[in-house]
Amino acid sequence: MGHDNDQGNDGALPAVGDRPFVDRALNPSVAPNHPHEWPGDYTFCPHCATELETVEVYGHLRRRCPSCGFIHWRNPGVGAAVVVFDDDGRVLMVRRGPGSTRSGYWSIPAGFVDYGEEIRTAAARELLEETGLEAAVGDVMHVASNFHDPTKLTVGIWFAGTVTGGTLAAGDDADAVGWFALDDLPPLAFETDADLFERLRGER
Ligand SMILES: [Zn+2]
Repeated sequence: MGHDNDQGNDGALPAVGDRPFVDRALNPSVAPNHPHEWPGDYTFCPHCATELETVEVYGHLRRRCPSCGFIHWRNPGVGAAVVVFDDDGRVLMVRRGPGSTRSGYWSIPAGFVDYGEEIRTAAARELLEETGLEAAVGDVMHVASNFHDPTKLTVGIWFAGTVTGGTLAAGDDADAVGWFALDDLPPLAFETDADLFERLRGER
C-alpha cells in the first residue's frame, strides 16, 4: 500500500527539512532508504497480523492497520544513565561488551527503562547490573536525544549518582569497568556522553 507523495519525488530521499526533528548531520545513516519510513518499521500489525499501510496522521506518515485500526506511534526509547565520581574526581565508565551497540567503546553506565519501571529505579538497576555498585540516584545532569542507532532512537537522561554499596565488577552487557579522569577518557561510544564531559570540563 503506497501513500500520497506530496513532494512528487517518488524514489528519491525526502528533502532536508522534511523531518525537522532529526539532525542528519549527527548521523548520515539516519536517512532512510524509503521516503518517510525508518529502518525497523513494522510490516505487519502486531495485534492482528494484517499488513500495515502508511498514512498521514497528525502531520507525519505513520504505519496503520487497515483491519483493526492499530497505529504505530513510533516513539524513542528512554535510557537512564548514572554519573558517578570517586573522591579523586574520576568518572565511572563501562566498556560495552560483544553484541552491544558500539561494542569495545566506553560509555557512562546506562540502559533502557522497562515498561512500568520508574526511571530512577531503572537507572539504579542498570548501574548495579553493569558495575556491581549500588547508588542513590539524584539530580538530572543531562538530557539528550540520541540518533546513533536509526532503528532504535532514544532519549537519554543522565542522573548524578552517589555510591552506597556494592563491589565494583563488570556485568550484564559491560565487559570492563573503570574510573577515568575527565582529561584522560577512554574511546567514547556516544557523542552525547562526550557532550556532557565537555560541559563538565568547562565547569571545573
Ligand atoms: Zn491490526
